[in-house]
This record gives sequence, structure tokens and C-alpha cells, in this order.
Amino acid sequence: MAHSRASTKVVVAGEVVRSIPSLQSAGHDLNKIMGIRLRNGPDLQLSLESLDMWQHDELFKPFFHQVGMIDCSSSKEGIENLRRKYQTLLDAGIGLEKTNVWLETEDEILAKMPNFTREQVKGWKGLFCSDGGWLAAAKAINAIGNFLQDQGVKFGFGGAGTFKQPLFAADGTTCIGLETTDGSRYFADKVVLAAGAWSPTLVDLENQCVSKAWVFAHIQLTPQEADKYKNVPVIYDGEYGFFFEPNEHGVIKVCDEFPGFSRFKQHQPYGAKSPKIVSVPRSHAKHPTDTYPDASEITIRKAIARFLPNFQEKELFNRTMCWCTDTADANLLICEHPKWKNFILATGDSGHSFKLLPNIGKHVVELLEESLSQDMADAWRWRPGGDALRSRRGAPAKDLADMPGWKHDAKL
Ligand SMILES: Cc1cc2nc3c(=O)[nH]c(=O)nc-3n(C[C@H](O)[C@H](O)[C@H](O)COP(=O)(O)OP(=O)(O)OC[C@H]3O[C@@H](n4cnc5c(N)ncnc54)[C@H](O)[C@@H]3O)c2cc1C
Repeated sequence: MAHSRASTKVVVAGEVVRSIPSLQSAGHDLNKIMGIRLRNGPDLQLSLESLDMWQHDELFKPFFHQVGMIDCSSSKEGIENLRRKYQTLLDAGIGLEKTNVWLETEDEILAKMPNFTREQVKGWKGLFCSDGGWLAAAKAINAIGNFLQDQGVKFGFGGAGTFKQPLFAADGTTCIGLETTDGSRYFADKVVLAAGAWSPTLVDLENQCVSKAWVFAHIQLTPQEADKYKNVPVIYDGEYGFFFEPNEHGVIKVCDEFPGFSRFKQHQPYGAKSPKIVSVPRSHAKHPTDTYPDASEITIRKAIARFLPNFQEKELFNRTMCWCTDTADANLLICEHPKWKNFILATGDSGHSFKLLPNIGKHVVELLEESLSQDMADAWRWRPGGDALRSRRGAPAKDLADMPGWKHDAKL
């Protein structure tokens, strides 16, 4: 994004395909979870601000389906984690006990999720959050795109929207704009690079971000089946995955849960002295025949067997990999580049940032205007070191090179 305060002109250099959201954005999706994240002060503040905007802001509220969310588990470790999460919510001291309820018995779980059977939820414990639910992701981004176009924001598409490199003043370090791959040049007081999983391939982030793919698949319900699942809460189990109520066409999205897939290659981002090993996303938009690894078919099926046993025979479709970029500590990377004045990074989503769509821009503007709070600036600072391949997940990502089954390029 090129942002010129003098003329208040904002140019969004977007993507490869003319659509909002971009077909390769992680947000180009039916739905994403809305939940409260308590890991640290900035995370909690961001979650509460975004919840308020999803609930009340005219632009965003049509896309928030506040059906609630149940975190559940039946394993000893999973239940202990859930209990810890519940205690942290209570300890936050901001009244979260009003919206978060511990589900101790099978009856309590069945009361919230009548489609489950008693047999199915044997040994489960749960944590129900009435502030949770899901966000109609692609529709929300599209609405913002339309709003911004109405406000006069200019979008560049195709080569005219694909970042190639920053442009610098004669001092070689003050950024004065950017060049796109078609050779267009946009001049600006400040440039914000917010390219999600592509960010570490575009400029050298010194291994602070490792981009990884997560996967999902869809199943089609009949209208009668879909009716029974209307308005059910989002169900999440960290050892299996999660699913959402069907959309208006009876489509349910199912995700498994795992530490992501990297795609390491020799690659030279701008600013690196020579090619280095970088995890480079490969988008479904540019490679529409890509699906996901064979191993994902097994884990997605396992999630369906766990949550939707009646639908185990259903055909899966839209098998998709979707790319995010992890930092080592799972905090965002939102800061000025340490060597390039006026070049701002807004990335490091760490796979949990869709919910921040309404409010993260406000804090990026605070950074541009030098009014960002100290705790956010500290959490989001430039911070090489640490293990972004593993991040805070249970294990390091496996590499797609070792995961057969996802690539279906036509043989030449
Ligand atoms: C399967 C899956 C499930 C998820 N579930 C949730 C969830 O339940 N809740 C939640 O909050 N989050 C969830 N996330 C994470 C969330 O989607 C991301 O954190 C968030 O969308 C990242 O936003 P972003 O703007 O940083 O990146 P993106 O939305 O990916 O946007 C990056 C943009 O940069 C553009 N771009 C790429 N290269 C260039 C270039 N050279 N020049 C210009 N533009 C470029 C892309 O086209 C794209 O539009 C999930 C992610 C996945 C993959």
C-alpha cells in the first residue's frame, strides 16, 4: 500500500487477479473463526476491539454470525489445556465469565449441540463462548473493497498491482514509493507492505516469518440436512480440527488442525544479498489444480468422523491449501523496516489474524503517525532470531516436498 498523507491519496497495489479479495488471500474463504485471544495484552486488546466492531460497526456486522463457539476435547491433555484456558479467561478480570461457560457433562454439551449423539460426546469436556462464532470472510473483504473504492482508494491489479521492489531517495535508505512488476512506479510518503504469506518472499525478513499452508475441504449437504445444522456453534478440537455451520448453499467447511506445511526453495527476496532458503507459497489461484497432500485427506476425514459421523460418506470437494506466515512468537510483525525509512511491514499474521480485519488498520495508521502504544510496538517490533518454522505450534511444519498428493499439474 502506498500512502501519501499530503494528498491523503491511498493506493493499494493488490495482487495478481482482478478480484477483491484476491483469490490468493488467506481471507478468500467461506468462513473464519471469531474468538477471543488472551495470550498477551495486545492480543486481548485487539480481540476485544475487533469483537466490538464485528458486533456494532455497520460495515462489518453483516458478516459476523455470532452463533457461539465450543472448544472441546476428550483427551487428558486437551481437557487440561481447556481448563487452563477457562481459568485464564476468568483471571483476565474483565467479565469474560459472563460469556464463557464450562461444559462439564455430556448433557451440557448436547444442550449446546443437539446434533451430536451421546455416544459421540462420551468423555468430552467443553468451553462455550457466546461471543464467538464465524465471519463470512471473503464477503467481508469484498464489502471493504467496495467501501474503499467508493472512498476514492485506487487499486492496482495484475502487473500494476504486484509489488516488485521499494524505490529509494538518493540517500539509498529513505523509501519514496514502490515499483510493480509491470514497471509502474507509485510514489508515496510511506509504503506499507501487507502481503500476508508472500511478504517474506518479497523482502528479506531475515527469517522472522515462515510461510505455511493449512488446508480445508467442503462437503455438500441436502437442504434437509443443512436445516438441522443451521446456527450451530463453531466446534473446535485442537487434536482434530474444526467445522462451521453450512452456508446458504448447504456447504460445510471442515479443517484439520496441524502445524502447517512449508515449501522451502532457493529464493532471493529484495534486500537479500544472494538466494537463500525461503518458504514460498504456491497459490491455488495460480495453480487451480493443486489440492492438498494425501495425508490431509486422512486427517480431514478423521475430523469429519469425529464431528459429523453421519456425513462420512459424503464426497469432499474444494480441497484447498491456504497460506499464512508464522513468526517465532506468534505476534504480528508491524513495524518500520530497520534500514529502510518509511517502509512499513504489516505481516506475521501467524494464522490467527482474520478476526482483526476491522481494527488492525487503525494500529497500522498509529504506527505511521507515530502514536502506536508502547506495548504493541514492543510486541510487533523487528525481531530476528527464534524459530518461526515451529512458532508456538506442537511441532515444526513438514515440507510439501515430502508430502505427495497435492500437485496435479498437467503433464507437458
Ligand atoms: C485454513 C485457514 C484457516 C484459518 N482460520 C482462521 C480463523 O478461523 N480465524 C482467524 O482469525 N484467522 C484464520 N486464519 C488466518 C487468517 O486467514 C490470516 O491470518 C489472515 O487472513 C492474514 O491476512 P493478511 O492480510 O496478512 O494476508 P492475506 O489475506 O493472505 O493477504 C495477502 C495479500 O497480499 C497479496 N500479495 C501477494 N503477493 C503480492 C505482491 N507481490 N504484490 C502485491 N500484493 C501481493 C495477496 O494477493 C493477498 O491479497 C486461517 C488461515 C487458514 C489458511
